[in-house]
Amino acid sequence: MNAIDLTRQLVAMQTMNPPGNERACARFLGGLLEKSGFKTRYLEFAEGRTCLIAWTDAHTRTGGQDESRPVCFSGHLDTVPLGVTSWKRDPFGGCIEGDKLHGLGTSDMKGGVAAMVAAALRAAQTSHGKANIMLILSAGEEAGCQGAFFLAQSAHRLRPAGALVVGEPTFNYPCIAHKGIIWMDAEAEGVAAHASVPDKGVNAIYKAAQAILRLQKFSFSTPNNPILGAPTLNIGTIAGGNAINIVPERVMFAVDIRTIPGQSHAAIYRQIEDCMGDDARISNRRLDCPPVATDANHPWIQDVFGIMEPILKARPVPRGINYFTDASALASPLGNPPVIILGPGDLARIHKPDEYCLVSNIEAAEEAYYQIMMKWDHPCNKFQNSNSKE
Ligand SMILES: [Zn+2]
Repeated sequence: MNAIDLTRQLVAMQTMNPPGNERACARFLGGLLEKSGFKTRYLEFAEGRTCLIAWTDAHTRTGGQDESRPVCFSGHLDTVPLGVTSWKRDPFGGCIEGDKLHGLGTSDMKGGVAAMVAAALRAAQTSHGKANIMLILSAGEEAGCQGAFFLAQSAHRLRPAGALVVGEPTFNYPCIAHKGIIWMDAEAEGVAAHASVPDKGVNAIYKAAQAILRLQKFSFSTPNNPILGAPTLNIGTIAGGNAINIVPERVMFAVDIRTIPGQSHAAIYRQIEDCMGDDARISNRRLDCPPVATDANHPWIQDVFGIMEPILKARPVPRGINYFTDASALASPLGNPPVIILGPGDLARIHKPDEYCLVSNIEAAEEAYYQIMMKWDHPCNKFQNSNSKE
């Protein structure tokens, strides 16, 4: 099964989130992997919301030691919904024009998922099942890594991995870090009164405004990360008041914070509360994902840079991305392995109409993933040593 045909088949399976409905997609990919000797497990966090874990049993063949950790590939099966703007081509048609494969989720990230599954099938075949590979294909990523957090909460279902590749869109550039995220709702509370006697009430909009203006100047007082830069804060939504002639008693606003390694999320919640003072309070913690970062000098990172050098026609340099991925949820239950974010998709094409992914990028990603799988060399991964050319 080549990665391009597989991408087109995945695009034809609608997995817009909401509602997701990833089950058919997970079962289809699981079936392909099972035929090539992979063990599989399907885990649902809700009806039809299926995550797939697939692995070769190289683990048991090398003696079953825990140290024989697989290289793990992670992707998500859901896509964002179609927006209101109509598409020039069928978003589920997967039509190819020149080097462009069109469709919803081609870049984010069915092209990446197809490349990793195609690479895994090929690696299992050429290594006669000895390549030590694990795939984690999650549901519900677009709504805050729901599937990955569900897997993380039942961590006994995940065995430790030796390294993790996340196939999110990086235009095939191997990135070694991404920011963390905090999503929270804040609330300003007032006292309702008739608008003709505002002094009888307390205006929640004025209180929220004071809090928000202070948040606009909020300083994280932390040095910039050399790869990820500075943490950021943005107020994304605001809602409040009941009618023009009532002193408003409640205002809600939503705060998005992107964090960098070394920051304590617990400390940030306290600093935000302090900054808002008596004017507002945090009413709901919606999402909390830690940043992910690996030392560029880690030997496996350098291995992957070596694999990517001929593909990119330049030695990669340490880079990070601003968006967050399933790695935030999966890194800890996988034993905090080194992480690379590397996928064929184009960030500039996602979450909007007329998404596409370059055919040549998907093919290059498939080749890169295949080489990463075949080169995976853990001390206990004996076949690698006997087969290596060194
Ligand atoms: Zn994605």
